[in-house]
Amino acid sequence: MNIVLLGAPGSGKGTQATRISSRYDVKHISTGDIFRENIKNGTPLGVTAKGYIDQGHLCPDELTVAMVKERISRDDCAKGVLFDGFPRTIFQAQELDKFAKIDCVINLNVPSEKLIRRIVGRRSCLACGGTFHTDFIGETKTCPTCGQELYQRKDDNEETVKERIAVYEEQTKPLVNYYEEKGVLVNIDGDNDIEKIFTDIVKGIER
Ligand code: ADP
Ligand code: ZN
Repeated sequence: MNIVLLGAPGSGKGTQATRISSRYDVKHISTGDIFRENIKNGTPLGVTAKGYIDQGHLCPDELTVAMVKERISRDDCAKGVLFDGFPRTIFQAQELDKFAKIDCVINLNVPSEKLIRRIVGRRSCLACGGTFHTDFIGETKTCPTCGQELYQRKDDNEETVKERIAVYEEQTKPLVNYYEEKGVLVNIDGDNDIEKIFTDIVKGIER
């Protein structure tokens, strides 16, 4: 089974992705995480991606598609993939259709005025991949799950977030119609508590 998680920046894709991939036998592939890993390791891909990401722009389509195509050809993706943050453009979706059959697209809906607040307060843990919000954990620098150091993503500042949301509206939102027309779209109210959203997603996948 292959699933796509669709939603604006800050809509909770990463949080739900962890839950979905442990419930179903699907490998969680986050293009944002792969880019950040490459940036951390100073690879040529990372050097290219960093310029786009820091400005809140999308990385080039061809580069992103090639990266995903390579990643899902590995053994750990054989049983199915949960795509998180991919596709983000119609071009990417059309390319994806050529190498994977998408069974279900989960579209997380969150009112746009809430997205900025969610992202600016977001703290991430590189060690366990967890994300947390300062509303719940305060200003601690220690990951509540694994005890390692928390950090704030460089692109999680107000100015870059506004740009990312604008890019989402323009380039990624058309995917909602794209998948609706294919009959695989499931709309989920993402303005709820985490467990309720997950229950709704499970219902959507199993409908
Ligand atoms: P969020 O969903 O919180 O905005 P991600 O971690 O998914 O964050 O992505 C961070 C950044 O990585 C994006 O703003 C973009 O620059 C780049 N990126 C991630 N996925 C893609 C993609 N499919 N196509 C192009 N760029 C991408
Ligand atoms: Zn952690």
